[in-house]
Amino acid sequence: MDCLFCKIVNGSIPATIVKQTEKITAFNDISPQAPTHILIIPNIHFENMGKLSEADEKLSGEMLREASAIAKDLGLDSWRININTGASAGQSVFHAHIHLLGGRTFAWPPG
Ligand code: AMP
Ligand code: ZN
Repeated sequence: MDCLFCKIVNGSIPATIVKQTEKITAFNDISPQAPTHILIIPNIHFENMGKLSEADEKLSGEMLREASAIAKDLGLDSWRININTGASAGQSVFHAHIHLLGGRTFAWPPG
């Protein structure tokens, strides 16, 4: 499948990998929106987090747990998780992912 994030998982496209397990890969976003901006993705392809959650509750939970663990490892005391599902919500890569953002103050409501 011609998917950018599948290629990052299998190493055919380079990325700055923060953590990789049997289930997930975490890497720095190429266009960071905060001092810390890491993407946590499943190693297997799902189109978005909605589809992944419906198919594999355990994996979606594990992704959240990894996001929290990475935030803790980085010493972030305040951080935001963002999940864009669908183009009008801002999804541009159609392989499920969680954005982990930290290191600055965030506004609410989001744009
Ligand atoms: P979204 O807009 O929620 O689908 O998020 C996709 C994210 O992937 C964006 O924040 C992009 O900056 C990021 N991105 C796109 N290409 C790459 C890449 N080659 N390496 C790392 N991050 C990427
Ligand atoms: Zn993929």
